[in-house]
Amino acid sequence: MVTLLESYANGSWFRSGEEGAPLRDAATGEEVARISSAGLDLSAMVERARTVGGPALRDLTFLQRADLLEAVVGVVESNLDELYELSFHTGTTRPHSAVDIFGATYTANAYVAIARSELPDAQLYLDGPVLPLSADGSFSGRHLYSSRPGVAVHINAFNFPLWGFLEKFSTSLLAGLPSILKPASQGAYVAERAVRRIVEAGVLPDGVLQLVSGSAAGLLDRLGVHDVVAFTGSASTAATLRADPAVVHRGVTLGVEADSLNATILGPDVEAGSPEFDLFVQGVLTETTVKSGQKCTAIRRIFVPEERAAEVADAVAARFAEVTVGDPRRDDVTMGALVSLEQRDLVREAVRTIERSGRVVFGDPSAVDVVDGDAERGAFMGPILLQADGAAREPNEVEPFGPVTTLIPFADLDEAAGLVARGGGSLAGSLVTHDPDVAAQVVRAIAPWHGRILVLDRDAAAASTGHGTPLPELVHGGPGRAGGSEELSGIRSILHQMQRSAVQGSPAMLDAIAGSQGGNR
Ligand code: NAP
Repeated sequence: MVTLLESYANGSWFRSGEEGAPLRDAATGEEVARISSAGLDLSAMVERARTVGGPALRDLTFLQRADLLEAVVGVVESNLDELYELSFHTGTTRPHSAVDIFGATYTANAYVAIARSELPDAQLYLDGPVLPLSADGSFSGRHLYSSRPGVAVHINAFNFPLWGFLEKFSTSLLAGLPSILKPASQGAYVAERAVRRIVEAGVLPDGVLQLVSGSAAGLLDRLGVHDVVAFTGSASTAATLRADPAVVHRGVTLGVEADSLNATILGPDVEAGSPEFDLFVQGVLTETTVKSGQKCTAIRRIFVPEERAAEVADAVAARFAEVTVGDPRRDDVTMGALVSLEQRDLVREAVRTIERSGRVVFGDPSAVDVVDGDAERGAFMGPILLQADGAAREPNEVEPFGPVTTLIPFADLDEAAGLVARGGGSLAGSLVTHDPDVAAQVVRAIAPWHGRILVLDRDAAAASTGHGTPLPELVHGGPGRAGGSEELSGIRSILHQMQRSAVQGSPAMLDAIAGSQGGNR
């Protein structure tokens, strides 16, 4: 019998009385679960978080919260096999699911370590030194961060059901905010199972983690000042949330990680046959095919010197031709399916739109040979390489959220930087060059358009984490189109969810307020 996914609300599991919408296996089209939140008492969930979970967390020091997070990761790590098994239903091969599942536990573990090395054994975080404000030293000021008496609502995209959950939860927990998790409906069974195991293990105080399986319509109506919404998803949903009265009138802090037309640039110094050329082509292959290109950081635009365009197109096409598409459970399949037929249709439409100003040079968006999959009912698509010229509008405006990327030649580095900027702000960019002068010139020009930039050459290659991998220690987020928030960035992403205040008084008063800051572990 197909399972109806449940929500975890107000200290117990809630099962909707409705039959729910079907969630289908991406590769076979078979129904794997149903989902509905109809009847869920969202007001009571927010109240529980504010009055039970929040106070329990705020009583703890940062280091005690880190202990809770460590316990949560431990539970998830003890249940990895079933999470990987469920993840096959999203169309993803096991190595590609690791980006979500291993990425989730890696990030949460990193936040435990970051908290233990950078946060105090206290509830307040002191920001900077005491500042003397009077000649006789009797009156001073300082800045401090305190936990807000609110709730963090985490709205996630379908492509990272576990990573999206744990990376957001880690920072909110450490900030002292209870969380309400709202995974995307597609793939929600992965997050639901993880929450179920965490609840069963009893490692969190009541009200610290709740789950909405299904629509969260109306949740923002219950939110106000001190509440935080961390959203990952499409630019159109982000625009709806930005216009919500909760954000416009009631002071809800909204963080947005939206879509992104990430670029990679090949330095003019790089010749075919050099290590950098191979790294560049490998980077394009990886970013186009991992999770079938359903990664917010994937390379959507490839900028190459015009004299190298044909060589790069040929080399990328040759690597794309080696990709085996099919049932993600098979070891010989190197790329599974998109998450749903609807997503495949959207990607096909995006390719057609980009074709208005470009042409497909490799792949067929409407047909692909599949190994052991249902080509009709499964959401398969092979890798697609398009090519356009610098004047093209569509490749710089349309995000094909699938295994699709567009090559665009440039005449010089100034033109390349200008083309990169036409993406309107991105999460991640990369430059492959072995020339430090090229690196300095390009990074200076494109840094304002990016949250993170990878500069790759033969020296960094072996240890490089790659173009598309967000790291907990570094900024994950980007300006403009990418949404404007910093969801990850070491302790900054914790502090973004706390209130910074200036406190003034006598030095003795300021010392008393700061209290013991304890030592880091
Ligand atoms: P989406 O359709 O915008 O949905 C994202 C989330 O918002 C889902 O949980 C969805 O729930 C929920 N949602 C939809 N409408 C809502 C509303 N009116 N109020 C509250 N929640 C609402 O995006 P998606 O198709 O899942 O994800 C693909 C997009 O995410 C791509 O554009 C990609 O670039 C972006 N993305 C960005 C990042 C990043 O870090 N910047 C990471 C991953 C993905 P339902 O599923 O139940 O509708």
